[in-house]
Amino acid sequence: MIEIRNLTKRYGDFVALHDVSLTVAKGEFVVILGASGAGKSTLLRCINHLAEPSNGEIRVDGELSRGDRAGLRKVRRDVAMIFQHYNVVPRLSVLKNVLTGRLGSMPAILSWFQLFPREDIDIARECLRRVELEHKADVRTDTLSGGQKQRVGIARALAQHPKVILADEPVASLDPKTSRKVLRYLQQASRESGITVICNLHQVDYAREFGQRIIGVSAGRVVFEGRPDELTDEVLQRIYPGGLEAPAAPETPAAFVPTVPPVAAHTAPQLALEQS
Ligand code: ADP
Repeated sequence: MIEIRNLTKRYGDFVALHDVSLTVAKGEFVVILGASGAGKSTLLRCINHLAEPSNGEIRVDGELSRGDRAGLRKVRRDVAMIFQHYNVVPRLSVLKNVLTGRLGSMPAILSWFQLFPREDIDIARECLRRVELEHKADVRTDTLSGGQKQRVGIARALAQHPKVILADEPVASLDPKTSRKVLRYLQQASRESGITVICNLHQVDYAREFGQRIIGVSAGRVVFEGRPDELTDEVLQRIYPGGLEAPAAPETPAAFVPTVPPVAAHTAPQLALEQS
């Protein structure tokens, strides 16, 4: 489903990803494991062109992924993203946040006026049911807990009917019990719908528990690829040359202002939703 060949990403003189090559099969749940600053987020952002690769080739479902207008539209339709800080619109209802996952499949004029077809509303409700939040459909999203907001993020991704979900540190702001719950919904999405999931994590225990396969990244290079039971101390030393990190504090403040909206190809309709 994902084929990356010789991907390099430079920010000025700094090389964030060095010649990364990897493949991910359809329906696989792959964890990208690495310390903060290792290049995990850059890797996901290159896959959906939130960051433009400097060199190399990325194929999604056999097709070359391109950063031009048509290529972006396709990648935003096929590849959904889940963010650490949820990227939900606080003042919108839970249902409307999930419906933003349908924008890529709707005529722009309908999305501008928030005229969601009945079919899309049914899809959004079904996705909320899958993360057990159907009863919250009509409440404002800013009344939810962090874990619930991330479940809305998963429902929004599912509503997109994507081939791939990229989850960038989806549980870094959550406590362990909530983290496991959120990762289970993500795992379920992969198992039940055959969606390919690539999930960035820095916590070894979650990677072992949820990853079907683990790709270890350190200083922009792939330093390990294997099964969770192959994560030996020697391998962990390679992934974390500076030692394992202390766990992130749960529930970091929600003051984060996303620089890129979740479905960047549809910025304008989203703004329309936000202002309503
Ligand atoms: P991770 O997700 O593993 O924490 P990132 O992919 O966010 O790592 O970052 C990898 C490296 O690239 C870091 O050193 C980071 O500072 C750098 N980096 C990320 N984004 C940018 C950017 N837009 N401009 C310059 N450097 C960046």
